[in-house]
Formats: sequence, structure tokens, C-alpha cells
Amino acid sequence: MKIYDLIIIGSGPAGITAGIYAKNFGLDALIVGKEPGGLINTAFKVENYPGIFNISGKDLTKKFEEHRKYLKIDLKKQRVENIKKLKDIFKVFTEKQEYLCKSLILAFGTETRKLNINDKFDGKGVEYNASGNFKNKIVGVVGGANSAVMSAISLSKEAKKVYLIYRKDKLRADDIWVQRVKKIKNIEILYKNNVIDLIGEKKLKKIVLQDKELKVDNLIIEAGYTPNTYLINELGIKTDEKGYINVNEKQATNISGVFAAGDITDASNEFRQITTATAEASVAVLGVFNFLKT
Ligand SMILES: Cc1cc2nc3c(=O)[nH]c(=O)nc-3n(C[C@H](O)[C@H](O)[C@H](O)COP(=O)(O)OP(=O)(O)OC[C@H]3O[C@@H](n4cnc5c(N)ncnc54)[C@H](O)[C@@H]3O)c2cc1C
Repeated sequence: MKIYDLIIIGSGPAGITAGIYAKNFGLDALIVGKEPGGLINTAFKVENYPGIFNISGKDLTKKFEEHRKYLKIDLKKQRVENIKKLKDIFKVFTEKQEYLCKSLILAFGTETRKLNINDKFDGKGVEYNASGNFKNKIVGVVGGANSAVMSAISLSKEAKKVYLIYRKDKLRADDIWVQRVKKIKNIEILYKNNVIDLIGEKKLKKIVLQDKELKVDNLIIEAGYTPNTYLINELGIKTDEKGYINVNEKQATNISGVFAAGDITDASNEFRQITTATAEASVAVLGVFNFLKT
């Protein structure tokens, strides 16, 4: 079986950047990622990436994909289910295939935090991103950070009414988004509120808050993200107490030959952005290059 110099797990901003730099460094690399673009796909607008000052997350993803294809960087759209270390090489298992490599960059980001209620309405009114068709619908959005506020703004353009439901008394999104959301007439912000129950038969019909019930067609959960830890545990990779991978200034983990980049790490002062993910990925590839030389 072929042994790659490097396998990059994840095809978000960090994974794609790692692929680009691996190509620059002449490494024989493969990206294995479930979905090109990663989290940025769900961003309504990106306005802070240099040179591209106003773009939807989906269009930025298209640009990343164009760049990847232009450089002929190999991407397998598969889900990695396990990684094993066999002496000096690693074996990466997906639902379809197995791959071997001399080094790894872990760039598999985070996953959406679920509400601690039943999940019987998942996909039946309860969604984890706002990219569907919500024309003339009444929609609840749970959360108060950038992702929730941006989703509410994007939904307000087609939905009849949007409730932004947040457990604290002040939104924690960037000020620019807080100012925008407050000006939109069909968005009602419900502070100090939690969704405590979901009502419906086959499909969600109502949500129950502490002090009232609201009729909604959909509920979008944007209650934050948690690190994907299941791939890390078996390799014995060290993380912080929340599960984010500990890396040093070279983006190296505690396991020789394994590097990490992007939202999954504890680096960049925990400022989880496209710019930090891409920067960490380029540093990680330099680390891999030097590791393979020795
Ligand atoms: C709504 C929203 C708006 C945002 N807006 C901005 C913004 O305006 N500007 C900004 O800089 N940042 C923004 N961000 C943050 C930005 O999206 C993230 O910081 C960035 O996407 C992190 O990149 P990443 O590659 O580390 O992780 P991710 O983007 O999470 O990518 C991880 C990748 O790994 C894949 N993956 C996960 N598990 C596996 C597995 N087992 N096998 C294979 N593949 C796997 C995923 O499918 C995905 O492709 C926003 C985030 C959200 C949610």
C-alpha cells in the first residue's frame, strides 16, 4: 500500500491551507475531509479575510476548492473513523478505505453543541445550520455568539419572524453584528431564556421557554462548538481540559509526527478564525517538512 508523506484530516480552512503548503514544500500529501470548507460553509458573510472583503461562506469555500483543484491537491471526501500508530507510520481508517502515512496534520475542527433535550425533532424542525429554505417561516435561533447572530440576520431576509433566544442578558457576538441584529424589525431577541422543551408530533410545532411557549416552524441550534475528540483519544494525544489539542509553537502535538491546526487546537490564544486556522496550518506543514527531513 502507498505510504503518503502526510495525511491531513479535515478540509476546512486549516486542512485546505495545509494541502496548499504541502504542495509548495513538495510533499506527497492527501487531504481526507468530510466536507470542503468546513464551518465556514455556514457563515452568512465573511468580511475579515484579507483581499476578499465581502463574501458568503459558501462562495469562499468555492474559492478554496478552486485553489485546491488548480494545484491538483488530492482530496478524499471521506470520514476518518480511526487512526492507529504502527511503529513509524500511521494508518488512517475511513468508512471506505485505509491509508498509510509518515506524518499527520489534524485539522478536523469542532462540532456543534446539542441542546440537552430530546433529539427526536433533529431534521424535523430542529436544524444545526441556517442554510435551508425558511421562506415565510417562524424560526427560533438558539445562541448569542457570532454564528447565532449571523444566522438570525441571514434568516430575517426570508423568514416571517425570527426569535433569537439567548441565555444571558447581553449578546456575545462582535459588536458590528450586535448593532446590525438590533436594527432588524422581524428579529425579536429574547434574553435570559433557555429552550426547555420541544413540542410536536411528527414535526416540531412549539418550543417551551421558561416563561412562555412559542409557535415555531423551525429551531436552529447555534449554541457553540465542542472539539471532536474521538479521533484523538486512541492516539494518546494530549488536550486541554475542554478537549482542544495541546500544540507547541511548531503546531506539534505530544506524539512524534502528529501536528494539529485550526479550531481543534489550543493555539492562537483560542481565537478561532479563518486567519488563525490558515496560519496554524502553514506553520504545521513547515513542522512536518522538518520532521520528515530528520
Ligand atoms: C456561522 C459562522 C460564521 C463565522 N464567520 C467567520 C468570519 O467571518 N471570519 C472568520 O475568520 N471566521 C469565521 N468563523 C470561524 C471559522 O469558520 C473557523 O474558525 C474555521 O472554519 C476553522 O477552520 P478549521 O479548518 O480549523 O475547522 P473547520 O472549518 O471546522 O473544518 C473542519 C473540517 O474537518 C472535517 N472533519 C471533521 N471530522 C472529520 C472526520 N472524522 N473525518 C474527516 N473529516 C472530518 C469537517 O467536515 C470540516 O471539513 C465563523 C464560524 C461560524 C460557525
